[in-house]
Amino acid sequence: MTQLLPGATIGVLGGGQLGRMMAVVARQMGYRIVVLDPSPRCPTAQVSDGFVVGALDDPDAARHLARQADVITLDTEHVPADLLAELEAIAPVRPGASVLRTIQDRLVQKQFLDRLGLPQAAWAPAGDPAELVAALARIGRPAILKVRRAGYDGKGQVRIDRASGEPAGEGAREGIDRASGEPAAAAAVAPVLDPLAEAAALLARLHGQPAVVEELVRFEREISVILARGVDGAHRIYPIAENVHRRHILHTTRAPAPMPDAQRRRAEAIAISVADAIGHVGVMAVEMFELADGRLLVNEIAPRTHNSGHYTYGACATSQFEQHVRAICGLPLGDPRPLSGAVMVNLIGDLWSGGPPSWRRVLAHPSARLHLYGKDAPAPGRKMGHVLLLDDDTGRALADADALIAALATRT
Ligand code: ADP
Ligand code: MG
Repeated sequence: MTQLLPGATIGVLGGGQLGRMMAVVARQMGYRIVVLDPSPRCPTAQVSDGFVVGALDDPDAARHLARQADVITLDTEHVPADLLAELEAIAPVRPGASVLRTIQDRLVQKQFLDRLGLPQAAWAPAGDPAELVAALARIGRPAILKVRRAGYDGKGQVRIDRASGEPAGEGAREGIDRASGEPAAAAAVAPVLDPLAEAAALLARLHGQPAVVEELVRFEREISVILARGVDGAHRIYPIAENVHRRHILHTTRAPAPMPDAQRRRAEAIAISVADAIGHVGVMAVEMFELADGRLLVNEIAPRTHNSGHYTYGACATSQFEQHVRAICGLPLGDPRPLSGAVMVNLIGDLWSGGPPSWRRVLAHPSARLHLYGKDAPAPGRKMGHVLLLDDDTGRALADADALIAALATRT
């Protein structure tokens, strides 16, 4: 197997924070980074050796990037798989086009998980109003409608509430947002009398894009398994992350998630079976819902480094970003061992509503590490950075994280 050694050039499709953190670590190791993004001020370009301006679905721009790269990787799964297949003729693309073809369409991803026999929330395709009516009759309410392609951070999702007086469908439960009194990012649409008209109105909220509908799961908690798979099929698995979302956006991750060993092994086995079946190369995340009876349902697969794995950058012997570089360059994978317990809390653009936050409290905390992604346009719901708290007492670190966020929000 050919190894790409330091000095080689890694091409990155998409210039967000995942590409940025990988680029920082890759350059530390002596690799060169070139990035394709529509914006020359994107987070990755700020720390790269080379830059190609262009849309992620622009074949000329992507080919131009590929010709400068020894290996190509992705900051986002939303690059057309057909274009990736074309780039594979120029340089290795890791993960490959076939991985992205399976994952970037929620419907194809869910069919893949069903074929593997892995448990998921009840789901059905909703390509048009009639199909959505039939789907809701089968899986019940409340439910959640998700666009098949290009959704992230709860974007492209609409919550479907229970019609008044209507019994809940089999397995249909209230979602965590409602249970915690959080306003759901995905707006709830009140049911109207005519089911077809209601379905059309729901799909219109997604601009008529083809969607899938899922039962809304009342989970005990959300966890994710971050793993790396090498070109040779070797795996390394990080401590399991326990994730809390607010308004469908990741708020905190703590790791290691407190969990009996047998349950941890079940979660790991699910993630490994996904990575092997799909022939993944690089870091990947498998998001899961853990139910009160201990069952694990796969929520979604991300074929890349993941927000819930940011804690590894600071808390583990090898960060997910170095691990991804190692995997795509054919190097031996690094040690994923945790050096400390950790809590990561996201810094969302809402914190900038009154101007840039004061970082005084964060910087004064001896075990807090501030990461800002260099985004110049804070917007509500936009991930601007995160804070990592290193503490073996992860309960205390969670409380510290919430206190820091409250101080940032109130500017104290
Ligand atoms: P993305 O991360 O791509 O925006 P997800 O499908 O992971 O999309 O949804 C984001 C979050 O919304 C999840 O982490 C979870 O908190 C919540 N959510 C999504 N689907 C469901 C569901 N079927 N039941 C309950 N909560 C859900
Ligand atoms: Mg998700």
